[in-house]
Amino acid sequence: KTTIRLDKMLGNLGYGTRSGIKSLVRQGAVSVNGQRAKDPGMQIHPEQDQVMLSGERIVYRDTVYVMLHKPAGVVSATEDNRDRTVLDLLDPEVTVLSPFPVGRLDKDTEGLLLLTNDGKLAHELLSPRKHVPKTYRSLVAGDVGEADYESFRQGVTLDDSYVTLPAELKVLAGSSLKEKLEAGVYEAEMEDAKALVSCSQTNSIDGPLSWIELTIHEGKFHQVKRMFEAVGKKVLYLRRISMGPLVLDPALEPGQWRELTSGELESLR
Ligand code: URA
Repeated sequence: KTTIRLDKMLGNLGYGTRSGIKSLVRQGAVSVNGQRAKDPGMQIHPEQDQVMLSGERIVYRDTVYVMLHKPAGVVSATEDNRDRTVLDLLDPEVTVLSPFPVGRLDKDTEGLLLLTNDGKLAHELLSPRKHVPKTYRSLVAGDVGEADYESFRQGVTLDDSYVTLPAELKVLAGSSLKEKLEAGVYEAEMEDAKALVSCSQTNSIDGPLSWIELTIHEGKFHQVKRMFEAVGKKVLYLRRISMGPLVLDPALEPGQWRELTSGELESLR
């Protein structure tokens, strides 16, 4: 089994700088297997040894997996000169492990974003050969219907001549969306659309609106927006709800996050 220096272990977990940790050890704040630690450089078996800091059990890990409900207005990057990034939404206990977003959502796109420092897993999820499905819900200006379903099933030609892989379109509420909402017909799948339609930006749109679900098996730049452009329609709102087996936790509001459960992590491996 591998070992790690005590000061490195605590440093990796965000408990301070090397010298800060050294003074914690000097003060007697750290114990290992019930004994006060004296040497900040002592070797720890992270899986077996019981490390306590100020009476609290410290559990070591070097990987982190975060499910974030990305809100609109932040960028899917680790650094940005102008905009807030998705990392700004996380806590130091997590960011100290240097997670990065697995793929990107546009600044105005909301929904499921996985962040991890596990490069291998990220690579597998993003590999174009793996065709990991990604499902989005979207409010679209226009009457999305049978013809679009058929176009997306066959593949549409984007503005750069790329032909998309077959994608599955489901119309949750078609051109009748507005009328249904006005008439007070609320279907479970329309819940989100209800809130969106009532917001002023979309209210000012004349003509029909559709609330749809689209599953794609690749991830070109602005893919969903460009697919709808290819069929003459405009995406007004976009949210990712799943990526492979990982489903956005409905308990997470935009801007909220949690670490993956062990079951979710297993499902990704
Ligand atoms: N497709 C888009 O157009 N934007 C996203 O953020 C994700 C998929």
